[in-house]
Amino acid sequence: MTRILILGGGFGAMAATRKLERLLRPGEAEITVVSYENFTVFTPMLPEVPSGNLEPRHVVTPIRAQLRRSRFVLGRVVGVDFATRIVEVDHAIDGSRYRLGYDHVVFALGSVTSTFNLPGVAERSYPLKGLEDAERIRNHALACFELADVTEDEEKRRRLLTFAIVGGGFTGVEAAGEFTDFFRSIARFYRAVDRREISLVLVEAGPQLLPDLPPAMGEYSVRALERRGVRVLLNAPVAAADKDGLSLKDGTRVETSTLIWSAGVKPSPLVASLPIGTGRGGAIVVQRDLSVADYPGVWAIGDCAQVPSPAGGWYPPTAQHAIREGPVVARNIVSALRGLPMQPFRYEALGMMASLGGRRGVAGLRGGYVLTGFLAWLLWRTYYLLRLPGLDRQVRVALDWTLGLIFPRDISELRLYTESDRDATGADRRPGAGL
Ligand SMILES: Cc1cc2nc3c(=O)[nH]c(=O)nc-3n(C[C@H](O)[C@H](O)[C@H](O)COP(=O)(O)OP(=O)(O)OC[C@H]3O[C@@H](n4cnc5c(N)ncnc54)[C@H](O)[C@@H]3O)c2cc1C
Repeated sequence: MTRILILGGGFGAMAATRKLERLLRPGEAEITVVSYENFTVFTPMLPEVPSGNLEPRHVVTPIRAQLRRSRFVLGRVVGVDFATRIVEVDHAIDGSRYRLGYDHVVFALGSVTSTFNLPGVAERSYPLKGLEDAERIRNHALACFELADVTEDEEKRRRLLTFAIVGGGFTGVEAAGEFTDFFRSIARFYRAVDRREISLVLVEAGPQLLPDLPPAMGEYSVRALERRGVRVLLNAPVAAADKDGLSLKDGTRVETSTLIWSAGVKPSPLVASLPIGTGRGGAIVVQRDLSVADYPGVWAIGDCAQVPSPAGGWYPPTAQHAIREGPVVARNIVSALRGLPMQPFRYEALGMMASLGGRRGVAGLRGGYVLTGFLAWLLWRTYYLLRLPGLDRQVRVALDWTLGLIFPRDISELRLYTESDRDATGADRRPGAGL
């Protein structure tokens, strides 16, 4: 039987797998999905996890629950031999090596945070990319409050109560908005902390927040965040980070114990190491039908792919695009099996939205329409709630949001991620480490 391997368990991979399951006739091909997490993270809601507005489990959907007839392997892809058509996978639980053969393979391995090799940043910052990152940031922020509540060293206390977010794109802006809600809600529990001592700084290298939206939307976002007490620094590229804070290229210092990095992503490093054509930042270069030239049976979608746009350039790495590329790659694989013509990927983005905290948002929609304020926030919530996979998850998130309107945010500092927290950079990632 034809073997189809889907590498990854995120937006693109799941969209491709679901479509393949629907299109393939029984016995026509077997599908295997490989991912090192057994769930799909719904990233648009991720910034609400560190702020305690949403429970971590509620923004993820188990992969097995999304599959109807595909096999799932919980493992990390560590190598690919294109000559023998073998993918090497280390099981995520015991590390045992599996060699999976394929006739068609879809790379949908996503991206990782990029710190642009800036000195100290990888070691000192918290990325906001996955569920574990979100939980770490939450526990670290709570650790800062716990310490600030008892420390008498003024300088240290100021550092502990200053939170810096780098990156004025959607993730950074939404995280800033969420944090303002979070701090307002929890400050009452830390009696020795004066609310005015808490400071949140949003640092953006370019001249505008939300550069994918019209400039007026960026200006609106600056005003909305500043009204909620956020210090927004524009045209402020970062030079380096150290244990006491952040240095900007213009010499400005931000003394902080918490640096959240959402300034950029780059394709999965595994992909960049493959001997096939890679382009922008190491992404797999695909043709308009999402296949890789000169490698029959090899396809790539999502953040790890460089997908050409008919308008020139490439499609941006967003969930919106990955979700639409999945069904196209599925249809093209089925066409390849049946000797039918390929279909090019073509998609016009619906628009982009961001929530700004305090029940405010901004949205730039297809056709040049823009929305701001409460309506944009409501649209954001409604749209993403409906897109969240799984009715049970939708109900849980709706309940979290409802309870969030009534009760203060939870301040339990759960040390569930503190045992093996040294990452590839050697940095100690335990919340509160180095404070
Ligand atoms: C906080 C945040 C908010 C965002 N908000 C939005 C938004 O509002 N709208 C929007 O359109 N986009 C948003 N994005 C971007 C969006 O999440 C990505 O563009 C999208 O997830 C890309 O989909 P993908 O399928 O390519 O990769 P992903 O969804 O990242 O999936 C990659 C998968 O590959 C797996 N994987 C990676 N490496 C390996 C390996 N070596 N072996 C096995 N498995 C592996 C991972 O576990 C994961 O399952 C946001 C991103 C973040 C971080």
